Amino acid sequence: DLSNAVMAQDEMGRPFIIVRDQGNKQRKLGIEATKSHILAARAVSLIVKTSLGPRGLDKILVSPDGEITITNDGATILTQMDLDSEIAKLLVELSKSQDDEIGDGTTGVVVLASALLDQALELIEKGIHPIKVANGFDEACKVAVKQLDFIADKIDVTNTSVNSDLFKAAKTSLGSKIVSKSHDHFARMAVDAVLSVADLQRKDVDFELIKMESKVGGSIEDSALIKGVLLDKEWSHPQMPKTMTDCKIAILTCPFEPPKPKTKHKLNISSVEEFKVLQEYEQQKFQEMIDSVKESGANVVACQWGFDDEANHLLLSNGLNAIRWVGGSELELLAIATNGRIVPRFEDLTSEKLGSAGVIRQLEFGTTRDRMLVVEECSNTKAVTCFIRGSNQMIVDEGVRALHDSICVVRNLVRDDRVVYGGGAAELTCSLAVSEAADRQIGIDQYAFRSFSAALDVIPMTLAENSGLDPIETLSALKAKQTNEQCPFLGVDCLGKGTNDMKELFVIDPLIGKKQQLLLATQLTRMILKINDVIISGKDEY
Ligand code: ADP
Repeated sequence: DLSNAVMAQDEMGRPFIIVRDQGNKQRKLGIEATKSHILAARAVSLIVKTSLGPRGLDKILVSPDGEITITNDGATILTQMDLDSEIAKLLVELSKSQDDEIGDGTTGVVVLASALLDQALELIEKGIHPIKVANGFDEACKVAVKQLDFIADKIDVTNTSVNSDLFKAAKTSLGSKIVSKSHDHFARMAVDAVLSVADLQRKDVDFELIKMESKVGGSIEDSALIKGVLLDKEWSHPQMPKTMTDCKIAILTCPFEPPKPKTKHKLNISSVEEFKVLQEYEQQKFQEMIDSVKESGANVVACQWGFDDEANHLLLSNGLNAIRWVGGSELELLAIATNGRIVPRFEDLTSEKLGSAGVIRQLEFGTTRDRMLVVEECSNTKAVTCFIRGSNQMIVDEGVRALHDSICVVRNLVRDDRVVYGGGAAELTCSLAVSEAADRQIGIDQYAFRSFSAALDVIPMTLAENSGLDPIETLSALKAKQTNEQCPFLGVDCLGKGTNDMKELFVIDPLIGKKQQLLLATQLTRMILKINDVIISGKDEY
């Protein structure tokens, strides 16, 4: 079909054909566009909603090549879903920005955004203009954020004992992600990791200094925090001491082997004598190398290359612990951490170039034959490594995610020690504050405020529903209780502990995280409400 084809000529007079827009351009306009977006958002939110809270359910995600992820982390679920709606993709971005900024609350932010969109749809159907709705939501959000500031409590971040606030906060954030019996262990790791790199004066935590490493094998309880550098290597000889203290490390990129005869020359060995001469020459060269290492004062050798049994044995008998085949980047990391220099030739080795570390230990894991080396008490770094273990890749991955969340919570609290209460308690107080403020609004904002308040209610309702409670009953009971007792700590008792007092249960959320959720969700809603024309360039029909 060439009906939309036009003949044309270029400047040289050669003819060519222009075929216009063969595709099937799609276009949605105005309210229709907004409505279809909101429906798409609802579909996404229905999927992640059921994983909100400590009783939330996990999802299995299967990638196109059959790889499996099991998680209940909102950001992870959304990034791995194959979404084709543009709005759904925006929700994924939303969840990611919450993850980047705060690291937690990624499910909540999506549930809230989609609740806001649902409410917006009702207002639009009543005939209110989308922009008016968005403006009203912005104002309502300000009221909610102010209320958060008002109810926020301070916690003590200097105490890190088992009963400390910081530790409990780390524990809460692990939520339903990993088996609950390792919660204490993981919370300890998170708190220790953050505090070993934190600058409490400046309220700053350099995330670069916290490394995550994982290895399949062992159980999740074998996971450990390593204050130093982890090398996926073992001592080159099984008889070398497993632990070295007061280490002076020679970091070498030259091989432990005698210089090779140049290929141009031929080496003829025709008698036993000649062979002995060669062997002696080799041994002498080895000895020279070992001597130069010993003279520098080193007791540990980290070498980028391998070495043969002969060299290995000599190292052992000279009391040098050695590591071979250390990769380039590991070698660099080791040099930086131990304040050593990478040395390319034995002649260049001097005592100033050695790295120093208090201890180098070889870890062995249960019955698996995996070994790793831990370089601790390094002179130049506060860096720590969180080393996650687990019996299979899925467990390890979820462990990494859980610890990451927990570390984020602790980091956020070090940055800003103000908290609000979870279990929907904070959302409920905000909802009450916004609905009270609604009465003072004139005009259309009244409606927007009421709708905003209703959207906030969705968080406690979802938590209730996921915990097997009746959502509406729970919500109204809690609202009444919060109003009567003027108590902003009352939330949904998801785990059936017999109380609604989230302060007592110590279910907290960092204030900055909760604020971020409200702001991001409101911003996204405005963005979607402002779109009134979607033009999708068409694909070829042929
Ligand atoms: P997100 O990815 O948004 O952090 P989670 O699945 O971790 O989602 O759920 C967090 C929600 O669960 C928060 O609203 C938090 O207050 C609530 N929550 C966590 N633990 C409890 C608990 N023990 N009791 C009640 N609510 C809880």
